This record gives sequence, structure tokens and C-alpha cells, in this order.
Amino acid sequence: MTADLTDPMFTDENAARVALEAIRWPSGPVCAHCGSTQKIGAVNGKSHRPGLYYCGDCKGQFTVTVGSVFERSKIPLTKWLLATHLLSASKKGMSSHQLHRMLGVTYKTAWFMSHRIREAMAPLDNAKKPMGGTGKIVEADETEITPSRKTWKATRIKRSQNTRFVALIERGGSVRSKVIDERGMGQVRQAVRENLAPGTILHTDGAQVYKLLMPIGQHEAVDHKTAFARDSNNGRVHTNSAEGYFSIFKRGLVGTYQHIGEQHLARYLAEFDFRMNNRAKLGINDAMRAAIALKGAEGKRLTYQQTNSVRLS
Ligand SMILES: [Zn+2]
Repeated sequence: MTADLTDPMFTDENAARVALEAIRWPSGPVCAHCGSTQKIGAVNGKSHRPGLYYCGDCKGQFTVTVGSVFERSKIPLTKWLLATHLLSASKKGMSSHQLHRMLGVTYKTAWFMSHRIREAMAPLDNAKKPMGGTGKIVEADETEITPSRKTWKATRIKRSQNTRFVALIERGGSVRSKVIDERGMGQVRQAVRENLAPGTILHTDGAQVYKLLMPIGQHEAVDHKTAFARDSNNGRVHTNSAEGYFSIFKRGLVGTYQHIGEQHLARYLAEFDFRMNNRAKLGINDAMRAAIALKGAEGKRLTYQQTNSVRLS
């Protein structure tokens, strides 16, 4: 699979389907209904679209999009693949306005597609492995985003506080972000407790929230009032990785997603976490990253109603 935008999978529906099948079913078709890989046959004939399979075990029929966020979509698979590649390869993301122009779909469709793709990028809860481990350093830090007044008006949500999130980032490794509210202390501690493996060395700033945290392993704090880093027996103590990550996210907000609805923030964080966790430095190129997102589309559903039950932003 290439990330070359002249690849036939971005223009030819059959090539798109074959490409998605290769990603989702590397060892051959898997029944979307019963999981069987045995008595699967292609349904041929003029009245059937290509890519329809029949399962001899459960007698069901399925295509490669069944049981994924692309299921029942009227949007051509070529456009799904192109949108996924663009969102996976763009460091700061891509706005629905730009996707709408580049894909030749309506703005509303582009908006909906990008949220489905973000859903595909988000790890399933049961696929989340604990971060860190004995002797490994995980930084925890919080930040808040201050939307323009215009955005508040557009989303019609009354809030007295800015939107905040906490990021846990393993030094040289993966990141996990979570939206928190003004009662965030408990949520920050919960995020730390739920996500860190025993023995992890936690690095934070001097914020009160981390002081009363039952240590997972060891905790080192650096008081930013006096210094940005200090040395300890548990390595150089700082939260630079987390701060670097926040600045990428905020540049994305300024450059690409000026109008994030607060109710959608978690999905945008999933998108930025995804690119960070599959970054070039970890040996993952654009095509591989897009393939991981496409593979992540399975086992998830996001209906138009689910997306739309909250206001468009
Ligand atoms: Zn079956």
C-alpha cells in the first residue's frame, strides 16, 4: 500500500475495496457475522456488487465494510480511503472545509466522514495496554484550551471554565489524552491510576493534584515556579514531552480546527494521539499510518444520529 495519491485505490472503487480487504483481512475474508474463515465464497453474478461474500457457516452475506465505521455508507470507498490518508498524513489534521473541497463532497459529508475516521483512529478500550512499567518514565500534565467567544456562541454551551484535558506520555513512547472538567482533580488521578503499569516513574509539575496521588511506582515532581527540570535518581525530571505534545495540538487548533465543539474534543484528541502514537520517529510512514487507521475502522460503528445528536461544530 502506498500513500501516493495517484494510486488507483483513490479513484477506482474496485481497487479501493481490494486495498481495504488486504488491510482488514490479511489472511483472507473473515465473516463479519460469525467470525468464520472457513466456508467463505465470493457471491458472483451480475445482480451482485463485487466484494460480496457468503459464509457457509452462518449463511450470512457480508462485505469488507460490514462491522466497521464505513458500513452502510453511500460515500464511495475511494473517498473514504483518500480522506483517511489525508487525515493520517497531515501533521495538524485537516479541516472539514478542506476535505470537502479536496474530496468533492458536501461540507456536511466531509464533517461526518472526518468524525468517523477519528473514531477509527481511537483505540478500543479493551485494546489499551497499560503505559510505562518498571523503571519507565511517564509524564502527566494538564492543559486547557480557550476557544474564541465566537465558538462558544456557535456551540451554545454555557461554561464558566475553559476546556481541559490531561495527557499521559511515555518518554519516547505513546501518549494518551483525556478530557477533564472543572472537577478535574479526581479525573486526573483516575487517568493516572487506570493507565499506568505498576513500577512506572511518574513525572509531573508541582501541581497539587499529583501530590496526594497514591504512587503507582515512584513520583517525581518539578516545581515550575523555580525550574523546568531537575535531576533525580529517577532520571531528569521534566514534562517537556507533554508540553511539546500540547503545542502540536494547539497549533492544530489554530491552524486547522478553529471551531472544535467542546462535545467533540475527545475525538480530536484521539486523532492527535493517533498520529503521535504512530509517528515517523517510531518507524511508521504515512501509508502504514493510514493502514492502521483503516484497520481500526473495524469493530466500531458511528451512525449519523450519534454524530449529529450533538451540534455540528
Ligand atoms: Zn458467518
